[in-house]
Amino acid sequence: MQRTLHDLLQALEDAARRTGRPPPRLLAVSKLQPATAVAELAGAMRRERPGMRPLFGENYVQEARAKQAALAGLDAEWHLIGHLQSNKAAEAANLFDWVQTVDRPKLARALGAARDPERGPLAVLLQVNIDDEPGKHGCRPQDMAQLARQVAAEPNLALRGLMAIPAPWPDMQQRRGSFRRMHALFEALRDAHPGVDTLSMGMSADATIAVEEGATMVRVGTALFGERPSGRHPENPGAPQ
Ligand SMILES: *Cc1c(COP(=O)(O)O)cnc(C)c1O
Repeated sequence: MQRTLHDLLQALEDAARRTGRPPPRLLAVSKLQPATAVAELAGAMRRERPGMRPLFGENYVQEARAKQAALAGLDAEWHLIGHLQSNKAAEAANLFDWVQTVDRPKLARALGAARDPERGPLAVLLQVNIDDEPGKHGCRPQDMAQLARQVAAEPNLALRGLMAIPAPWPDMQQRRGSFRRMHALFEALRDAHPGVDTLSMGMSADATIAVEEGATMVRVGTALFGERPSGRHPENPGAPQ
């Protein structure tokens, strides 16, 4: 795991250097991985980059709650990257440091109302359905600006940027095109809202391409932890497994 992490960080830094941008933040996608694997990766991160706070991404509220309890005392930042039902928003608002999948006004309102102000604002990314895939979560690109204004109006939310899961085109040039369109949206959002600094895109198969196209955060699971224990998750059957 140490070697894998070392090589991945190196590859991401090399990709960033090619574009002249700072290296992206690495979010380790720990969904369906046991707490022991998460603790092991946190240790590897501390050895690899002392002082770097590890970031973990979870897709399911229930699973994240159990894992955080098992890892109490671990200094890490927890991100929700799976689709969030409005009836789970109240719990998610205080379980996570970031929610990357805000895609509708109702969800923004529910998160903002539930976030404990003592904890500071919840960091929020808007999920964009960049390839207009039917049935996929995320707001339409043309609805992004309006949703951003609604999030920005919530005192207990901090609008930080955008997240996307582009269509898994086998053709990497086509994926690059999706990342490039996301980057254009990101620049428009950044111009309109101070505090926007995060473009979350790129997974195991295409993280370096995403960085070349301007990702500031990549979400990597399999390439760090190995294959996930299989099986569809009842809480979120549509999520990439
Ligand atoms: C599972 C997942 C990832 C990680 O996918 P890998 O291919 O394992 O790197 C990234 N983002 C989201 C939203 C996911 O659900």
